[in-house]
Amino acid sequence: MKYVGLRDVEHCTDNCIRFVIPVELRQALGLTPGTKVQFEVEAGALAVQAQNPGCIFCGSREDLAAHHGRPVCGGCCRDAVVAAR
Ligand SMILES: [Zn+2]
Repeated sequence: MKYVGLRDVEHCTDNCIRFVIPVELRQALGLTPGTKVQFEVEAGALAVQAQNPGCIFCGSREDLAAHHGRPVCGGCCRDAVVAAR
């Protein structure tokens, strides 16, 4: 499955077979520095799954959105808005 909206740019690995995951995908997966990931290979494709993509405040994995590249759930967003009033 190709990520909708991702720039159609090829990426090269370096000498250690490392590559940069585009920011659009990092945000979509809630990947931040230190996030543990799991790799799977299926039918010649590599899948990367974040192990702890939960809300940075409550740990919920429901209703997540990226805020400055970090996952925050809808409940914590609403709580922050109420607290700011
Ligand atoms: Zn939360």
